[in-house]
Amino acid sequence: MISDRAAERLRHGHVWVYRSELVTPCTAEPGALVAVHEHRGPFLGTAFYSSASQIALRLVSPQAIAEREFGGLLRERVASAAQLRRRVVRDSDACRVIFSEADGLPGLIVDRYGDVLAMQVLTQGMDRSEVREEVLAALEEHWNPAGIVERVDERIRELEQLPLRASGLLRGNKTATVFSLHGLRFHCDALAGQKTGGFLDQRENYAAAARYAQGPALDVFCYQGGFALHLARVCESVSAVDSSRPALEVAERNGELNREVLDGKEVEWIEANAFDLLKDYAAAGRQYDTIVLDPPPFARNRQSVSRALGGYKEINLRALKMLRPGGVLVTCSCSYHVGEAEFLEMLGSAAQDAHRSLRILERRGQSSDHPILPGVPETSYLKCVISCVS
Ligand code: SAH
Repeated sequence: MISDRAAERLRHGHVWVYRSELVTPCTAEPGALVAVHEHRGPFLGTAFYSSASQIALRLVSPQAIAEREFGGLLRERVASAAQLRRRVVRDSDACRVIFSEADGLPGLIVDRYGDVLAMQVLTQGMDRSEVREEVLAALEEHWNPAGIVERVDERIRELEQLPLRASGLLRGNKTATVFSLHGLRFHCDALAGQKTGGFLDQRENYAAAARYAQGPALDVFCYQGGFALHLARVCESVSAVDSSRPALEVAERNGELNREVLDGKEVEWIEANAFDLLKDYAAAGRQYDTIVLDPPPFARNRQSVSRALGGYKEINLRALKMLRPGGVLVTCSCSYHVGEAEFLEMLGSAAQDAHRSLRILERRGQSSDHPILPGVPETSYLKCVISCVS
């Protein structure tokens, strides 16, 4: 039984109920399917129960679903997620195959890198062994991978009070592979790297950035070179910076892998703290025609938003100062807690302080294989703004 307020949120399309909104305590097993009722009100659907998370219930269906029917529902959801990817993903064999709530599978993330799938399980419900088995079988059926790897986020398993387990191979025999995006090739080791190996949410933004890019370009927070290599196809020269040595080692190998496509053009990979580098380069009067900023999330919660906006402003201000008239700024934020309006306001204020005028050409978000539920704002997190600076 849940509070009126929680019921109202579910009626508006959200799928979460917080622990404090349970009117009667839930006695179900961790991860079980439970029927959700409004306090003194109607039946609202079936949800996964978590005994540990602040999010006590995650709706899986507005219908009544019995445990014995659940396998069929899981198979249907994996199938329809696959069908959507086949429609929306172009020119690439890498994409997010399952995006948790947005695919009706709360707590499950699956990314495809060519013939390897990388899976993350984030909730008690999704971690139940029969649920995992059902999902794995459906993934094999629809994607026929050479390997399915599980990437364990230890902190989340701890928060969900799930027994610790190691990252590793669950099916098949392959954990590392090469995938392609828009004719460029990338190494992926699904057991190494950040997140599940890469940042697939930027896939469509790589191509968009390359449509505007020109001249000498700088890719800041480049990771394994997603933006940098797309820019290298069209730009005179590209420098790319990240503080992670392992990420840059893969970036360098990615550069070699694409030597032919890039006509021998080489990206300059720089290991540095981006804040220091931007400061030094701006002070030295370096100039570029294209700059990409794709930092890690500066705000992980509501409380850190104003500090995060300060960080975004600092890097954007320095980048704006280094852009030649007519230059292009591609600036991103993956912090859900920083909304698009706040991000744009920060950008406007950075332009003002830099004495530059800026016109926004595109306001973009995450790629379409990371679909957004209108009733669940948390499913929309990435901002990617492309502007022309004069
Ligand atoms: N643009 C990348 C994703 C960037 S993720 C892509 O499309 O694949 C953020 C990156 O910032 C990570 O690679 C991380 O190593 C790097 N990073 C974090 N803090 C940094 C800092 N202070 N200076 C430079 N790089 C940093």
